[in-house]
This record gives sequence, structure tokens and C-alpha cells, in this order.
Amino acid sequence: MTTIRLHNTKTRAKEDFVPISPDNVRMYVCGPTVYDRAHIGNARAVIVFDVLYRLLRHVYGADHVTYVRNFTDVDDRINETAQNRKAAGAEGSLEHLIAERADETINWYHQDMDALGALRPDHEPRATAYIAPMIAMIEDLIAKGHAYAAEGHALFAVDSYKDYGALSGRSVDDMIAGARVEVAPYKRNPMDFVLWKPSPDDLPGWDSPWGRGRPGWHIECSAMAHELLGEAFDIHGGGNDLTFPHHENEIAQSTCVGHGFANVWMHNEMLQVEGRKMSKSLGNFFTVRDLLDQGVPGEVMRFVFLSTHYRKPMDWTEKKRAEAEKTLRKWYTQIAGLETGTPPQSVMDAMADDLNTHGVLTECHRLSQAGELEALRGALALVGLLDDKIPDWAVAQAYDLTDMEAFLSDARVTAMETKDFSEVDRIKTALLDAGVEVQMSKDGVKLTAPADFDPAALEGIL
Ligand code: AMP
Ligand code: ZN
Repeated sequence: MTTIRLHNTKTRAKEDFVPISPDNVRMYVCGPTVYDRAHIGNARAVIVFDVLYRLLRHVYGADHVTYVRNFTDVDDRINETAQNRKAAGAEGSLEHLIAERADETINWYHQDMDALGALRPDHEPRATAYIAPMIAMIEDLIAKGHAYAAEGHALFAVDSYKDYGALSGRSVDDMIAGARVEVAPYKRNPMDFVLWKPSPDDLPGWDSPWGRGRPGWHIECSAMAHELLGEAFDIHGGGNDLTFPHHENEIAQSTCVGHGFANVWMHNEMLQVEGRKMSKSLGNFFTVRDLLDQGVPGEVMRFVFLSTHYRKPMDWTEKKRAEAEKTLRKWYTQIAGLETGTPPQSVMDAMADDLNTHGVLTECHRLSQAGELEALRGALALVGLLDDKIPDWAVAQAYDLTDMEAFLSDARVTAMETKDFSEVDRIKTALLDAGVEVQMSKDGVKLTAPADFDPAALEGIL
């Protein structure tokens, strides 16, 4: 069996991955807060962990991997949209409008991530469905002396956990010195973080021992991971901006309540656009949907993501997009109609080396050049660049019919002079039989090949 090596943020080293149980390899990845469309930075983490999920399924068997990615559906930005809609005359209670906004965003998320070829995780829990386990966990933390209630809040006491800061490599004193922590009179230590907070009367809230309120963000993941993956699991992932405070806090909560939590912590680096931080004010902010609508296929986005190692900052550029599209068109054309082979050892080795997807693509170039096309097909399937069939966008335009267009067009000019249209009819019928769409107008001839077009069908026409 392939030994996978993964970089563990906790140990700052690449380690052999040894699952707790090879029969059930378990992974949790922090999912989106569902207040709006996902941008391409959000998509990076989705693709990175989708590639890992595919690798784990390949090595351990598809039925022996459990992948959980949550939806955070408790959030002020969701509430705000619902409030604005209500103010603008939308029907239904605020609660209904909030749920509707979350549903709408989750649907978009599914559509957009499906377009990127990301497999759906085995579980996609919504935070609002796990309030009771969150409350139970907070009560347990308080009972064990790791948390306290104050003024309608429940707070985690960072001083009660000696390893606080170990994941991100910070001491509590450094954090206080450099942090933008919310200082509040009810906090014993300024770094203490919220487990539960009160909800204003007009916003959703749940009854709890600390009054009507809602959970803090960090406790959501600790509770859902525990409910769905158990006391200890294998891999926890997310963007590296989540290492502190989110993941540090998840570890503190889960460890202090007595759970083991994750063995391996993996973090992807951030994405930039044309060398700059993506931001709406710079005009370089794209959602996945923006790019899909501009005609950038999901496979092309995935290819660009895979071309940079996940632990390096990556730059989305127009140049990379164009190159990715050209390369994929070539590969898809080469492998159309072939059986899928197994990914070669060289590709498995690159994948197993801390997801060296750049190395996989380099290897794919070599396979393409060497004409090892079944292996190429297997490699593309492994990294999620190929489903059962070649994507329509690649095949439909992969066949250059301009010669055939010129041939038919010339025949038509001749026919207009001779008034003998038999040759035009012959060509047209043969093209139609081959499945080509034929449009003839005063502007000329336009031929369009179907997605599953087989160029062999054109033989004998010219
Ligand atoms: P946000 O859109 O800020 O709510 O972020 C949601 C998730 O997307 C987090 O897990 C971040 O790690 C990730 N994320 C946000 N911006 C970027 C970016 N520019 N590059 C990569 N990941 C990002
Ligand atoms: Zn989380």
C-alpha cells in the first residue's frame, strides 16, 4: 500500500500518515459560512482537500474514508441579508428569511463546487442542527474548570490549558501583545474566547443555561467533529488563516473536554490574483460563479489550483488560465475514447509526497508526450480532472473543422455558377451523417462538432 506523507502543522514536519483505523480514515475540514457566493480563494481549500479525499479513497478504498465539511449557518452576515430583505417587503418571518438565505447559499455552493469537480463530503452538517451537542460540550468544559459563565456569555479560560498556542506556535503573552482581542469586562483573561453569547431579541437564539443566545464559531466545529467522527480522528484541514485563532481554539475545547481530536493538521496557503490580495476595492475579486459565467470551465480552475503546491501562496493569473485551458484541450483530445488506466507509480509517488500536485501535472505532460495515454487518463481521474467522460467544452472545440468549412464553401461557390448542387449535397449529407451541425447562410458556412465527435467519421468526405 502507498505510504502517504503529509505535512503536519502541529509538528511542522512531513510525516508518514498512519490512520487510526485504515477501515475508516476520518477527515474534518472547516467549511464555509453561508452568507454569499464562494470566491476563488474559498475554492482553493475545497480543491486541496478534495484532492486529498480522492487520494485517501484511492489508497484505502472509497468506503473506508469519512469526510466531514460543515456549513456555518449562524452568522451576522446571513442575518443582515434576511433583515434587508424583510425591510424591502419580503414575506415570512425573519427566521424563515434567514433559513432561506442559508439554503440559497448552500445551493450555490453545491453548484459551484460541483462545477469544480469537487466530490461532496460524506457529511455536511449545519451548525444549527448541532446546538444541543454544543451546549453539552460547553457545560462539560465549565464543569471541568476550563470555562466560565459571565453576563450571559460562556467563555473558555485560556489559562486553564497549558498547551494553548501550541499549534500556531504562539505564547499567550505574545498573543495579547500583538492581538486584536476584544477586551471585555467579563473576561478573566483578554484572550479568553466566546463559547456562547447572548442573542438580541430580534435575532435567532436558542435557550441555554446561560440564557437565550447562540454559539461561538469555534465550538461549532469541535462539537460537529465529535458527533460525526468520534473522540479522535485523523486529519483536520482548512486555510492557514484559520490556524489561529480558530483551530487553536478548537483544539483547546476538544482536548479540555477529554477528547483526542485530530492527529494531523493541514493548512493550505492563501490565493492572490495577479500578484495582489484579492479584494473588491482592487477590482480583482472573483467568485467561482463569475469565472464560470465568463466561460472558464471548472476543470481549468482546478488545473490552475493544482499547478501550485498547496502550502505555497498561489497566484491566479489570466496567463495561467489560458495555458491551463490549452493544455487540457490537448490532453482531453488525446485521451478521448480511451479506456481509463491506473495512475502510474510516478503519479502516485508525487501525490503521496504531501500532495505534490505540481509534480503530478509535470508527470502528465511527460505521459502526454510519451503517448502513454491510458496512464494519463488514470492520472487525470485521480486528481479530479476527469469524470466518466471528456468535458463538452474541450471536445466540442477540439476538432478544427475550418478545412472542411472551406471545402464546403468552395463547393458552394462552384455550385452557384454551375447550378449543379450535387457535390454540395453529398458533402452536407456526409457531414450530417457524421453528426456535424451544418449552417449555411449568405455569410458563409459554419460547422459545429458535437461533444462526442469522432473525427474518423469524416474520412472520405474530402
Ligand atoms: P471567508 O470568505 O473569509 O469567510 O473564508 C472562508 C474560508 O476561505 C476560510 O477557510 C479561508 O481559509 C478561506 N479563504 C478566504 N480567503 C482566501 C484566499 N484568498 N485564499 C485561500 N483561502 C481563502
Ligand atoms: Zn472549524
